[in-house]
Amino acid sequence: MPIAERRAKAEQRRSLYHEADVVIVGAGILGCAVAVALGNQGRSVILLEKSLREPDRIVGELLQPGGVAALEKLGLRDCLEEIDAVKVFGYDVIYYGEEVRISYPGNAREDGEEPVQKSQTDEMRGTKRKRPEGRSFHHGRFIQRLRQRAMETPNVTVVEAAATELVRCGFTDRIVGVEATVSGREDAFFGDLTIIADGYASKFRKEFRKDLPVAKSKFWGLELIDAKLPMPNHGHVILGDGAPVLLYQIGTHETRALIDIPQNLPSAAVEAGGVKGHLKKVVLPSLPAEVRPSFEAAIDRDRLRSMPNSWLPPTTNKSSGLILLGDAMNMRHPLTGGGMTVAFNDAVLLSELLSPESVPDLADAHAVLKKMRVFHWRRKGLTSVINILAQALYSLFAADDAQLKALQMGCFHYFKLGGNCIDGPVGLLAGIIRRPFVLFYHFFAVALYAMWIYVTSASLAIMPLRLLGSAGVFWKACVVIMPYIFSELQS
Ligand SMILES: Cc1cc2nc3c(=O)[nH]c(=O)nc-3n(C[C@H](O)[C@H](O)[C@H](O)COP(=O)(O)OP(=O)(O)OC[C@H]3O[C@@H](n4cnc5c(N)ncnc54)[C@H](O)[C@@H]3O)c2cc1C
Repeated sequence: MPIAERRAKAEQRRSLYHEADVVIVGAGILGCAVAVALGNQGRSVILLEKSLREPDRIVGELLQPGGVAALEKLGLRDCLEEIDAVKVFGYDVIYYGEEVRISYPGNAREDGEEPVQKSQTDEMRGTKRKRPEGRSFHHGRFIQRLRQRAMETPNVTVVEAAATELVRCGFTDRIVGVEATVSGREDAFFGDLTIIADGYASKFRKEFRKDLPVAKSKFWGLELIDAKLPMPNHGHVILGDGAPVLLYQIGTHETRALIDIPQNLPSAAVEAGGVKGHLKKVVLPSLPAEVRPSFEAAIDRDRLRSMPNSWLPPTTNKSSGLILLGDAMNMRHPLTGGGMTVAFNDAVLLSELLSPESVPDLADAHAVLKKMRVFHWRRKGLTSVINILAQALYSLFAADDAQLKALQMGCFHYFKLGGNCIDGPVGLLAGIIRRPFVLFYHFFAVALYAMWIYVTSASLAIMPLRLLGSAGVFWKACVVIMPYIFSELQS
């Protein structure tokens, strides 16, 4: 059958009978990317989204270079244009007022990529190859661009519908679609494959796994207007006595401040003045002086909003006819801004593994499940690095005991050494270096350096005590990272 005729028939099946090869729940970061990737491969796709209005959220506002590269592979790079996005060249880490600049590494390339020739141009920008860049932006504007591209993709139909129930085959228990509410009416959508990408508070996740996301803190968001940042075009991480604060520009005039507040923090308790009181009394004085006026104005002006910072290790999809993806399947602390990079890279990998050449018929549940096992392990090169790094770095940056404080100081001074002590860690964080071994190398190098500083910074009299205590610092480093390594080894 000619392609045009096949497409018209598939479109008719989608609009009249609500049937497609794939039904995707959630037109967020992951859902839009997968819909476009599969639609471009000729699959018939229905993408369901409970609200197509521009979202106003404090999440997903800084995309790492590894995410920009994945967007490029998906043919969605232009979604970063015309949204007043800001270039990001790296980070400025400020530790008790002392700064270290952490630029994305100039010599980095993805595994398998050819070494860079001097004359080579960068396909991302059409210019001579420079250091990789991230982008920061208003989440809602970016999402609307992604949704627009999904709507324009042949073979994809986007419907405003809130999925309510999974539909199972009465004989085989296989998932065959979802029930949904469309304009107040009950309806149903059917697919050979149903992809659940309904985000952090997934309605459907609990049907497939018993463990719940763990959130020990929340990020509280403020939008600063015309803030003066110490290092423009860089994400700022402010470390001090309390949990970390992030600052990054999301538009020409707007800067996002995300303030981590651990559960049951006494200075944020109602009797101590609540979150506003904590922001004014504890956070404000710890910020660089030039940021304080816009931060204080935002506290007085803004509606305070928060999001839980969740940890949810990945699992293999084992259900016939269904795939859980995005935050519904795997989450890490947003400190390192890795969630969208994971989502876009997952979309690239999934579309490669499920391409019509390797799985001609998505109704072939056995073939799909086999590919999902491959997916689980192959994504680890990137995602285990981003997941473990985010969790481990958060433990250090929110240090609340002497050993963690020693590790935090060691980490900052490790960055100050420069060279590979910066390029390695930031290459991992950026989603450019995809080798878990590099992460373990730098993590334990930080631990050893922290021990060295812990011992040598003491006076001669207490040095022997510190020498003994340094074993505790190393032990703490193991306690921090090991659970996350083990969680990544689960199938
Ligand atoms: C505070 C915070 C800050 C973050 N900052 C960053 C950052 O700077 N950089 C970064 O890379 N990552 C960041 N993240 C993580 C990132 O936002 C997520 O990893 C990413 O958005 C996950 O994409 P997703 O498609 O799985 O979910 P989402 O993008 O949340 O999309 C889910 C979609 O599903 C829809 N939906 C939900 N239920 C239904 C239903 N029943 N029927 C139909 N539709 C439904 C929702 O409306 C939504 O559109 C942050 C996370 C947090 C908590």
